[in-house]
Amino acid sequence: MKNVVRTLIFDEQVSLTLLDSTRTVREAIRLHSLSRPSAVALGKALSVMTFMSASLKEEGHAISVSVRGNGEGGEISVSGNGLLQMRGYIGNPAVPEIPGETDAEAERRCIGTEGSLTVIRDDGYGRPFVGSCLLSPSGEADRSFEEYYRVSEQNPAYIASVVRFSGERLAFAGAAVLQPLPFAEESVVKKLPRGAELAAIAEKIGELGPEKCARDCFSANSAAFTEREAAYKCNCSREYLSGVLLSLGRAELEDILRTDGEIKVHCHYCNKDYRFTREDVEKLFP
Ligand SMILES: [Zn+2]
Repeated sequence: MKNVVRTLIFDEQVSLTLLDSTRTVREAIRLHSLSRPSAVALGKALSVMTFMSASLKEEGHAISVSVRGNGEGGEISVSGNGLLQMRGYIGNPAVPEIPGETDAEAERRCIGTEGSLTVIRDDGYGRPFVGSCLLSPSGEADRSFEEYYRVSEQNPAYIASVVRFSGERLAFAGAAVLQPLPFAEESVVKKLPRGAELAAIAEKIGELGPEKCARDCFSANSAAFTEREAAYKCNCSREYLSGVLLSLGRAELEDILRTDGEIKVHCHYCNKDYRFTREDVEKLFP
């Protein structure tokens, strides 16, 4: 199912991205057994990351974000690539629910109001681009991502992500992002919906789907749409981890084998454990 729609609007002066990340966030909830507050915080970061990944120019490019705040959720890490394979985890997947608390309050409690957001983008030129900014004191993920675009990319983006539950079940997750192109006229930029107005549009993606929402809310011409599919997918593998072990060197691995009898590697993104026995390690060093 195509769940990411991108196009240019307002005389091609503004880039619009509307996306439905419900399935991606559901998979994160399943893999990490997320409580509702943790799901809201990680789900929003994954939704914005889907936009960031869709902005990559080539399939082989990759981007990751780590949000290190003083909230109960601990560090939040999300990454994606040009194939729109998304993944992420949150330091504390079990931040408890507080009766009567809104999801916005839970988000703030998870993320915190002080800390930093760091982006690492690998455009395939060898050395990756690294940018960072301070977290927004509002405790809202969207505001921190906006701050990053303003400060570090010097190219503003207006971001609204939604993670909405119906009882215990995730009903909808998605995001709406507007990014004026560098030559956009000020009068156009001024009129762009942002904050609560953009959040209301992001909510509508849940009812209409990204494509109809782009047509209805922005009079966008569907002939110019780029439609793609994003999904939760971890790209870890035994082969990849063998390479990581090799880079540690034989002496270090022998040390671990002597103490633990085997080498255990845990992938935080998909909660998978990999085990390497002495025989496995010996095969790495022919
Ligand atoms: Zn993995």
